[in-house]
Amino acid sequence: MTSTTEVPRTMRASVMTGVRQVEVQERPVPAVADDEVLVRVGSVGVCGSDVHYYTDGRIGDMVVTGPLVLGHEVGGTVVAVGRDVPEERLGQRVAVEPQRPCRRCRQCHAGRMNLCPNMVFYATPPVDGAFCEYVTAPADFAHPVPDSLSDAAAGLLEPLSVGIWAAHKAQVGVGDRVLVAGAGPIGAMVAQAARARGATEVVVTDLVESRRERILQFGATRALDPREAAAELADLEADAFVDCTGATPAVQSGIRSVRGGGAVVLVGLGAEEIELPVQLIATREITLTGTFRYVDTWPRAIELARTGAVDLDAMVTARYDLDSVGEALEADSDPMSMKAVVDVAGGPR
Ligand SMILES: [Zn+2]
Ligand SMILES: [Zn+2]
Repeated sequence: MTSTTEVPRTMRASVMTGVRQVEVQERPVPAVADDEVLVRVGSVGVCGSDVHYYTDGRIGDMVVTGPLVLGHEVGGTVVAVGRDVPEERLGQRVAVEPQRPCRRCRQCHAGRMNLCPNMVFYATPPVDGAFCEYVTAPADFAHPVPDSLSDAAAGLLEPLSVGIWAAHKAQVGVGDRVLVAGAGPIGAMVAQAARARGATEVVVTDLVESRRERILQFGATRALDPREAAAELADLEADAFVDCTGATPAVQSGIRSVRGGGAVVLVGLGAEEIELPVQLIATREITLTGTFRYVDTWPRAIELARTGAVDLDAMVTARYDLDSVGEALEADSDPMSMKAVVDVAGGPR
């Protein structure tokens, strides 16, 4: 490992030690493999998945069984590089793509690394995440960002990537009308990615009025209460529907809003099994698919943020530090939280 001098041997890490329990511990700074960089963490976004692990101790069959560092939406600075990584990268500001596919299996070879069965992903038990001072990342998954992006914005390229990938799966195109269920952070990322792909109408549904109002700043051209606008939604003839709620009624009615030949993409996770209008899906030739994380989205996400097509800083609703990660996780369960971020390296940059 080659490195700058300022990297200490130990670091502070906010560790989840049980359900609704986190504490700051002193931990060794991770060693850098030959093809990796060491990133001093600047800012980490709080994700719904972090909140689920914190409040429930699990997401489906992924169970927290030991101490775990949460957080996977990372912006920071390269402070050390592995032997195979050019030293020019030292000092570079980066956004971390928090996945490590094996790159050798059939899915990886086919360009579907997000479905790699050997995937190692930040903050997914038992792999530690980024609510700490230093993380390692494969050099090619630490994406350089322009100085116009804050560390928080660099971290939020991760949820933006979820939106970009979902809009890609929905094959959103120029002049499209898109229906998005859910006006939370992921709905907002999908709406903005859909606009960037050329959608001219993005209708977002949400049960909460204040969330409907707010989403108009984040890509929605119209926001509807699904309980009051049922008839309007049934006649929508959307080119694509993206569900970001996992709520059974939203999925069922959203499918009915899609035109023949349109697409339905399931992003939100809710019930394990639900009833679907399969005859309608068949006779309208609707394509229904899931979406899981992303593939090769950071270069596009960086461009959307750099050009101002998406304002990630505007999505930050609260800021915390490493000593208050528990509060950040509690606060993020508030439906009015868009994005809470944890500033690790001393205050917002
Ligand atoms: Zn996330
Ligand atoms: Zn693989």
